[in-house]
Parts: sequence; structure tokens; C-alpha cells
Amino acid sequence: MRLTRRLLLPVLLSVATTATLPFPVALGAQGTTIRPDADPRIAQLVASVSQARLQATATTLAGFGTRSTLSDTVSTTRGIGAARRWIYNEFTRMSPRLQVSYDRHMLAQQGRISREVELVNVVAVLPGKSARRVYITGHYDTVNSRRPVGADATATAAGAAPAAPSAPLVRPTIDHNADAPGANDDGSGAALTMELARVFAESGIVFDATLVFVTWAGEEQGLIGSMAHATALRTAKGVVEANFNNDIVGSSLGGNGIIDGESVKIYSLGPEDSPNRSLARYVQRVAGTYVPSHTIRLMAREDRFGRGSDHSSFTANDFPAIVFREANENYERQHSPDDKLEGMDFRYLAQNTRVNAAAAASVALAPPAPRVTTSGGSPTLGRGASGYDASLQWQPSAGAVAYRVYWRDAWSNDWQKSQVVGNVTTLLLPNVSIDDYVFGVAAIGADGHESIISAYVSPTRTMSPVQLRK
Ligand SMILES: [Zn+2]
Repeated sequence: MRLTRRLLLPVLLSVATTATLPFPVALGAQGTTIRPDADPRIAQLVASVSQARLQATATTLAGFGTRSTLSDTVSTTRGIGAARRWIYNEFTRMSPRLQVSYDRHMLAQQGRISREVELVNVVAVLPGKSARRVYITGHYDTVNSRRPVGADATATAAGAAPAAPSAPLVRPTIDHNADAPGANDDGSGAALTMELARVFAESGIVFDATLVFVTWAGEEQGLIGSMAHATALRTAKGVVEANFNNDIVGSSLGGNGIIDGESVKIYSLGPEDSPNRSLARYVQRVAGTYVPSHTIRLMAREDRFGRGSDHSSFTANDFPAIVFREANENYERQHSPDDKLEGMDFRYLAQNTRVNAAAAASVALAPPAPRVTTSGGSPTLGRGASGYDASLQWQPSAGAVAYRVYWRDAWSNDWQKSQVVGNVTTLLLPNVSIDDYVFGVAAIGADGHESIISAYVSPTRTMSPVQLRK
């Protein structure tokens, strides 16, 4: 998101001369007028998302028949091996700016992985000025967990208990080479990821953050590809600013017959002021600027009820992550031979792709979110000398020329007030009680881009067991 001129001028006179504000009002996606505080470079990037290319990519992906992690890897036309080689080649063809690689992991037999197998994520990196990473991801593997005709007949005839609902993916009769086109789950997220690799690389913009585009494998066996990647990244002390994960984002028609092509859901793991929730709020604001015709529905939960996706591999490693989900799903098509192109709405997928584009570009052009804790993890928020003020401190953010402090009533779930301050790292708000309000701070770069907001979070109290006299 960008700082408006109105707020920028009082505090940033010297900076404003180098900024490109005010911007002419530009046309956004679908011909709608975007707000004047938008960056025309991002508007252009968003406008260059191609519905036709998304459709062509999803069509090719579905054409591999199955992309099951345990399917054939030798064929040049069918199975996950052919699919990942095609994705790799597509990334490579897009732009010499993309650094393309296979992220390989040799897996032992475990859980739904019924034999040793080489799991391969396909990665395209667009290097930025800094090493901090912004991920856009979707999984390219698929699954068909439908029960083959006649399977398990012996057990049923013998009166054994039917398999538990969670059991289909470990059923020994599962055929990993059966049709599992996965047009929507998650051909939609994989196509979105590939389209944005193209759009970002071709934009010519040099981003501050490094963009990382990944199509995961092993999602259907338990988020294995993303978990292997995120765990290794954490061990290597990698810095992740955001993971935009997309899983089932390509159909506007729900299985209940309800059509909604105008909104998308974002799920994010709490608590309320977790970096994940902060990222979700950020996307909603940026989408309002660049894709105002699309409604962002924030969901204060990790994912749909009892279900998951690869963003959880990132949050499990303390990297901020969210997942996009289409407004109304058709559960009947998922994990079946029926997850076909005919169930897709590519206009809708393009809109969801534009939202990802706007948010990822904004994060990647802004400075990193400021750190609002001590090195020991305590929030740098106090009551000031009077004991009744809000005294905020934060660490300087590389590239920041100003900061914006936010606060809200403690029962509210989104920011209500903000104040832009100069290139300082403290602020005293007289008579604003830190017991009554939640506070956060964002960094603003020289060209007006604003970071994700870092919230001051009260530490969780650790309780000791009561010692009773014996
Ligand atoms: Zn999925």
C-alpha cells in the first residue's frame, strides 16, 4: 500500500520531492478506476495478468492426467515427472531474470507416502535488492482418493468396520496412476504462481525483496514438499516476509449451486495480532486500491474446517503465511477424476491472481516490517514517564524514510487510527492507555510504499503449578 499525498507532505517534505506522487488516476483491472495513491508500476503489473495464459497453463497441467506425487516419473506426457519438467521449462523460458531449480527431497516411506520416493518442488527465484523473501505458491501435485470399484470388498464382506473418513489416502488399493487431473486442486494455484513468475520477471521492476515462486509436491500426502522446504530455510536462517499460498482458487461455482466470482477468502493462523493476520489485513487494503472490484473476505482461522494447505508449513516454521481459497468450493470434484477444466472460471482465477500480484508487489517494494521487540522477544511498548501514556519504540527498518503508527480499541479486529511520523524510532502518545488499545507500526520507503504492520503483542503469561503443603 502507498502513503497518500495528504499524509506524506506534512512530515516528508524533503522526501516528497523525490517521490513520484501525486499519481495520475490509472485504470485498474476490468477497467475500474483505481485510487490515486496507487503506484502506476504496480497497476501496470496487475493489468498484465493474462486470463488466457492462466487458462492455457491450467489446461496443460490437467493434460498430464495425474500429477500424484507417487505417479509415474518416466513418461513424457503423463504423471508428475512430465509435469514438473514442463513447469521447470516454462519458468526457464519466461525470463533470464528467473533462477529456476528443482528442490529435491528423498523421502522414506511414511504416512501416506507408501514407498520411498523422490519429492520435487519446482522453484523460480527473482532476486531483489535484499535477501528477504516473498513467496507466491501453489501445489502442482494432485490426488484421486476415490475408491476403485470392488476395492476393500473382502473387509466389508467380513463385517469389518468401514474405513475412517480420513483413511482414503492411505488405502493400499489406491492407484497413484489413476486419473487425477487436479484442474482446480491445485492447478489453479500452480497456474497462478507460474503466471505471476512471468508477470513479475517481465515487469522490469527491481524489487527490494526477493520473489520466490514455488509449485509444491507432496501436499496431498501431508504438506510434505512445503514442510521440507520451509524447515530447511529456517535452518539456513532465511528471512521470509510473506507467503501467499493459493489452493483451490479457480472456480466461482460452488457444489451447492451458489455462484460468487466477486470475492475470495483468506485464511490466516492467529492469534489476532500474529504476523499472518497482519499479512491478511495488508492484502485486503492493497486489493482495495488495485483490484477494487474484488472483495477480500478475511477468515480468522488457519484454514477451512478440518482441512489444510502448504501455508501451515510456513507458519510452523515461524514464517508469516496466508492461504487464498475460492468463495464457494465444490467438494465433490476435489480429489477425484472430476476435477476437470469444465469446472473452472478463468475470469475469476485472473481476478484472484491480480490480488496476489498487487499485494506481493507492494510488500516487495516496501521496506521490511519493523521489529517491535527486544532481541529477547519482549515488546518495546511502555507507559512512559507519566505511567499513563503509550510509549512506543521500534527497530529501524532498512530503507525506511518514515513510519506509520497504528492503534485500535482492544476489542476491534482492524486498525482504527494512524499517525505518520518521520524517520524516528520512538513515539509517545499522551494519555493513550496501552491497556485499552493495540498498537502497531509500519515502515514507509522513499517512494511511499508501506510495509506490513508489526503489532505489539503482550507476552503470554506462563503459569506455575500451585505448590500445596504436603
Ligand atoms: Zn489442494
